[in-house]
Amino acid sequence: MPEMPEVHALASDLSLRLEGRVVTRLDVSAFSALKTFDPPVTAVAGREVQDVTHHGKHLDVDLGDLHVVIHLAKAGWIRWHDVLPVPRQGRGALAARLVLEDGSGLAITEAGTKKSLSIHVVRDPMEIERIATLGPDPLDPSFTRQRFAEVLSAAGRAQIKGVLRDQARIAGIGNAYSDEILHAAKMSPFKPAAMSGDEVARLFDAMRAVLEDAVRRSDGLAMADLKGEKKSGMRVHGRTGEACPVCGDTVRQVRFADDSLQYCPTCQTGGKPLADRALSRLGISV
Ligand SMILES: [Zn+2]
Repeated sequence: MPEMPEVHALASDLSLRLEGRVVTRLDVSAFSALKTFDPPVTAVAGREVQDVTHHGKHLDVDLGDLHVVIHLAKAGWIRWHDVLPVPRQGRGALAARLVLEDGSGLAITEAGTKKSLSIHVVRDPMEIERIATLGPDPLDPSFTRQRFAEVLSAAGRAQIKGVLRDQARIAGIGNAYSDEILHAAKMSPFKPAAMSGDEVARLFDAMRAVLEDAVRRSDGLAMADLKGEKKSGMRVHGRTGEACPVCGDTVRQVRFADDSLQYCPTCQTGGKPLADRALSRLGISV
């Protein structure tokens, strides 16, 4: 799943490609992905792309008084094509195409059987509840250590892993970067969010360092290279069974009914392995 650093890079790459270009149409082939009906998708025709930005993990193609907002969810992706392929019967992965005048444009795809990619056509992105309720951007200069301390203290006894991923508390961090941030901060994923001032500071610095590093590595990359770059930068996420690059202990995982997290016992939990929770849910809205 693309998280804020990748979506940030996608938005930069897309704005270079799309700014000033005129959209011919938006074809949505996965009808369940389209969450709005007014304005209709046909309203995008003939409009010039002003900019491409993002709100947390949501991409926003700004067409002036209309916005096409795309949330790639767990298995969605966007590809640029100089010549867009014609959708064929049985090509289930293609969710939508944004077509420009010369036949180039974007193919939006979603792999897997569980479809959760969403596309909204709106006059104002704030009409979308998940955007209107987004927490602060963790890399925004106004998001200070003090603000972070307030977010954590408001979350109380909730486990820090879930709090970092909760889009209404902090925007843009998902399963991968929350694993990486907690590893960098040497903190258990199940630690309660309300923590001491020193611990808040450590977690804040880790969050900034991990996200800034990911943004630096992702920015300027073409869309096709982003996934590989994200994966190569991970120290514990997705690396169950491999050696922790900090201490050499074996990276372990906790499986949930709907997801899994990875961590290093020596770095994060005083050497104690965490119990598997395969029957419970991580219970996070993403
Ligand atoms: Zn370690």
